[in-house]
Amino acid sequence: MEVRSKAHLAVILSKLKGFSEPKASLEQYETDSETAAFLLWNMLMLGDIEGKTIADLGAGTGKLGTGCGLLGAKKVYLVESEDKAIETAKKNLESLDLAEICEPIKADVREFNKKTDVVVQNPPFGTRQEHADKAFLEAAINIAGIVYSLHKTSTASFVRAFARACGYSITHEWPCKPILWQTLPQHRRQVHRIDATWFRLEHNPQII
Ligand code: SAH
Repeated sequence: MEVRSKAHLAVILSKLKGFSEPKASLEQYETDSETAAFLLWNMLMLGDIEGKTIADLGAGTGKLGTGCGLLGAKKVYLVESEDKAIETAKKNLESLDLAEICEPIKADVREFNKKTDVVVQNPPFGTRQEHADKAFLEAAINIAGIVYSLHKTSTASFVRAFARACGYSITHEWPCKPILWQTLPQHRRQVHRIDATWFRLEHNPQII
């Protein structure tokens, strides 16, 4: 499918299936479509999608990885540990005829070790599992020289220090206000926005 603009991308992504029963313990919050399209368009403009091999770590229902496939990636691995999310991601990919380019892989991100050009991830922020975001950053730099990662802005100093200690520079920080879906016990859905930042990390051995 031809993607005509960032707005068009957001519309396509908004039609994908989301988590049917989001698991709070795994911090299963899908990236809202505007926030995803905003990031994916920046990646595209910086030359980090077309012809690249990309890993979407903690892919959930596949919004970010699917977007990379739509925008011309050579290969995308959607790495996700939870069965239902993987099943939904597969359906989403089939609906857009992306099953050949985009491969869902059921695995813990800490065990995934295929080398890729770029990682994109919206990791658990670590509010439920302490340091979950750190485990994702470690997994990302293990396999890619370029990493796009979404974090709460309140943890920005941790992300900057982590990058520096690992020989990565932060080339871009994009503030954004993603929607955090809150599933309440009464099954009402409350929507609120949080202050977050998309970081772009690039390996730069000289900074150590
Ligand atoms: N990337 C998706 C989903 C983000 S929610 C999106 O942007 O919409 C984070 C996802 O990470 C959840 O689907 C959760 O099941 C998954 N996850 C959490 N810990 C994981 C781990 N250790 N390994 C693989 N996936 C994990």
